[in-house]
Formats: sequence, C-alpha cells, structure tokens
Amino acid sequence: MIIKKSPQEIDRMAAAGTILVKTMNLLAGKVRPGVTTRELDEAAEKFIRSQGAEPAFKGYRGFPGSICTSPNSMIVHGIPGPYKLGRGDILSVDIGVIRDGWVADAARTFSVGPITPIASKLLRTTEESLYLAVEQCRVGNRLGDVSHAIQEHVEDAGLSIVRALVGHGIGRSMHEEPQIPNYGDPNTGIPLEEGMVLAVEPMVTAGRHAIRVGEDHWSIYSQDGSLAAHFEFTIAVTANGPRILTPWHEAGNGRAAA
Ligand code: MG
Repeated sequence: MIIKKSPQEIDRMAAAGTILVKTMNLLAGKVRPGVTTRELDEAAEKFIRSQGAEPAFKGYRGFPGSICTSPNSMIVHGIPGPYKLGRGDILSVDIGVIRDGWVADAARTFSVGPITPIASKLLRTTEESLYLAVEQCRVGNRLGDVSHAIQEHVEDAGLSIVRALVGHGIGRSMHEEPQIPNYGDPNTGIPLEEGMVLAVEPMVTAGRHAIRVGEDHWSIYSQDGSLAAHFEFTIAVTANGPRILTPWHEAGNGRAAA
C-alpha cells in the first residue's frame, strides 16, 4: 500500500529535508584530502541533533553510523570509519534525517580535489539522470517513466545503472512502497498520484552493473571494482508538479564539483 501525504505533511517532510540540506552543505565544506569518513559522520550527527532532529540511519537494522560514506568503487551503505579521503577520490554521502516523526533521505557524490575525466563524467551523468527523473515525478505519469528517464540517460553515456538496489517511497518510515527501480520502460508501472513522496536514487557505475557485498555485510561495491556514484532526492508529487524536499542545489554549493 502506498501512503499518500497531505500538503501539510509534505511541508513537515520538507522541514526534515531542510535540515538534511544544511547537513549536506556542512559536509561539502569539510570534504578534502586527509579528512576521515568518521569525522564527517561525527560532524553530521552533531549538527542534525543540534537542530532537534535525529540521524535516520543510526541504529537502523544495527547500522553504526549516522550517515553512509562510500568511497570510489563502493556504491552505498559504507560505514564511516578511519578511511582517510585522498586527492582524486570520489565519496558518496547518504543522509537520512527524522524530524517530528517524518523522514527525508538524500545523497550525493563529492569529488575530493581534481578527479579523472571518467570520474567527472560519472558524477555529472548520475546527477543529470536524477534531475531528469524529477521531471517525470508528475501526476499522470507512471513510475516506469521515472525509472526509464534514469536508465536512458545513464546508458546513453556508456555507464551502467545498478539494478540490485532501488529507490523507495518515504514518509513516517524511511522505506515505504513503492520500490523504484532505476531502469524500466516508459508508460509502465503504477500511476503517479498527488501526495506520493518518492526517494529516487540512481546508483551508477563506470563499469558493469553487478554488485558485491563487503566483509562488514553493509558496504556494497561494484563487483568489477569500477567507480560508483549515487545521487538521491526526496521528491513529492504535488498538484503543482514535482517538489524536491531536499534541494541542496539551491544553496549554491551543492552541485557536484566535477
Ligand atoms: Mg534512499
């Protein structure tokens, strides 16, 4: 069952999203060579709690971190720790915030100093595919239109969409129905209706789409060791079109520095 949200409820989710955006922008200012992912995690947790909110991932199914930090060939679910960012790394940061019982979820991949042309293309293409997906989050469209927009853009660029992981509905719970694959056919799937809130999250590799799970049983890598990127927004389907509830791009420093 898909739980639709009223305009008032969407505003409350947007309030969680605002805290998330501020957290992401705080981290954008800290990502540089020599910083550990644990330091980023601590800064994020401290800030989120200072806003009267909670990090949604902390303790979720036993996850030890407040955010997920996934460098290079790691796609998602990286546990923050002693890993020190190196010049030329890419780092995917996924943040969940709970405020007033409502959850917002978003991710972006940062570049750590200058990166290779293929890494730059990977980040740019993944982010672009997310914006193309946002444009499809409209009443009258179907879920397959969202999925297809992502797949087409990514594959046209010669990159691969991860198929084993999907986006999701979101609201009072971080994971609600529907599941949102990042590949599919247009004009298929459920019709999008006013009040649906979707966490759309393309995960893209520079190689093949197959994944492997790390020894910590959390981290997920590209199986072939190729670089991976992850961009995610929480998006509401409203009567006035798509509304991004985690708009880190509007703060000015949220774009991928590719
Ligand atoms: Mg998500």
